Amino acid sequence: EPQILSSYNPATGLEIKQYKSLTAEQVGKNLKKAHKAYTQWRSSAMKERTALLRSVAKSIRKHSDAAALLATREMGKPIAQSRAELEKCAKTFEYYATEGPRMLQDELIFSEGKRKGYVSFQPIGVVLAVMPWNFPYWQVFRAMAPVLMSGNAMVLKHASNVSGCAMMIEKIMKDAGVPAHLYQTLLIASSAVASVIAAPEVAAVTFTGSTAAGRKVASVAADNLKKQVLELGGSDAYLILEDADVAEAARMCLEARMINTGQSCVAAKRFIAVKSVRKSFEAALSELIKQVTYGNPEDPAQQIGPMARPDLRKELHSQVTDSIAAGARLLHGGFIPEGPGAYYPPTLLTNVKPGMPAYSEELFGPVAVIIEAKDEADAIRIANSSEYGLGGAVFSRNRKRAEKIARELLDAGSCFVNEAVHSDPRLPFGGVKHSGYGRELSSFALREFVNIKTVVLG
Ligand code: NDP
Repeated sequence: EPQILSSYNPATGLEIKQYKSLTAEQVGKNLKKAHKAYTQWRSSAMKERTALLRSVAKSIRKHSDAAALLATREMGKPIAQSRAELEKCAKTFEYYATEGPRMLQDELIFSEGKRKGYVSFQPIGVVLAVMPWNFPYWQVFRAMAPVLMSGNAMVLKHASNVSGCAMMIEKIMKDAGVPAHLYQTLLIASSAVASVIAAPEVAAVTFTGSTAAGRKVASVAADNLKKQVLELGGSDAYLILEDADVAEAARMCLEARMINTGQSCVAAKRFIAVKSVRKSFEAALSELIKQVTYGNPEDPAQQIGPMARPDLRKELHSQVTDSIAAGARLLHGGFIPEGPGAYYPPTLLTNVKPGMPAYSEELFGPVAVIIEAKDEADAIRIANSSEYGLGGAVFSRNRKRAEKIARELLDAGSCFVNEAVHSDPRLPFGGVKHSGYGRELSSFALREFVNIKTVVLG
């Protein structure tokens, strides 16, 4: 039975549009078409693939303004950030078009007279992408570029609140001249995902979203012995050591916390300041957070918009109030504003301790959390006590010392020194522990959905 997927504007609470989901029969037909498109695409020449990727980049830019506005309306992203997101998608397609052929070259292992052994990277089939609403274009395009470059096809199940963006992606692909069905948006509810994973036409799944949903997708994929990449939640720790440039650290920390209204897997979620700088860091952050403007995301003057959905705001607010009830100190924000829209003010909590939601849970919104550590070792211990391990950052004037912490001591997939964690197409992106496994972006993403095939010529 088709279901209704509704898009609401979180800035107004008003419905934008209803979309009817596909029936199981339609999904079955579409998967067959996707598989057929794959069987043709898999033997395409590298030149053909790079031309296609460049054409997608062009098409993304052509539709950028309309696509950006749609994202802003469906999930509340401040308009300048929506535009920047699309540009990053285009750049990533160009990156794979330029670097992909070299990365996918055969690797010679031995050559002994006539005898030769090498590795070849062969496509594996149709990859299902299950993606979230927070970066409705970036999450999809960053997964798609290496998948298409390596000769695979993709079908997308997007988050139910961004069906307009999902259809826009299909339009961008069509306009780019992508062969029919090589990429398809499947408008389906999450209850229909298991049967898509199980379908014989689907070879693998890439998932980005919450740890809870990732666990479900992973178990279905495991049952069907299908390869998966999981990019789940995070609770990135930013360590502020006693020799940090506190003013500069506070500036970068705030920006890293407020990006996308705090709704990013690699937003800075816990500021762990050692005792000797905790007060000055707190004062600096307090001063800065007061200046953050929030409001209509279509107005470029606003730094943060509404949260993507009212239920997400409700959950965030209860994490904040439960933490305050358990002894956290509220320095700014922390209330539900009157009026329409899922707005939540920039919020600052300090004196955050074990046992509080703000200490151990992911806070997916504009709430900054300060935790005091006794010293460097204690700060590292607190950072690693999280069940997550996506990113982390260290602020210190001693680069060697900070590098050692970043390189060896923090349990996370990406660690930055004196800089906020962010993705870059050239760098692998992914986590450890409950933040998932596998890697997106860079040459590592190209190796996720390929048959790493050994070929020996006797
Ligand atoms: P979900 O993880 O529920 O949604 C992500 C994607 O998974 C959506 O496409 C969703 O579809 C789909 N999905 C959900 N449940 C299942 C399931 N059982 N089987 C298959 N697919 C499923 O995120 P939410 O939107 O509910 O956000 C909740 C929390 O998740 C946030 O507060 C945040 O903590 C975390 N999150 C993390 C993100 C990240 O970038 N790592 C991104 C977004 C959220 P549908 O929309 O139809 O349910």
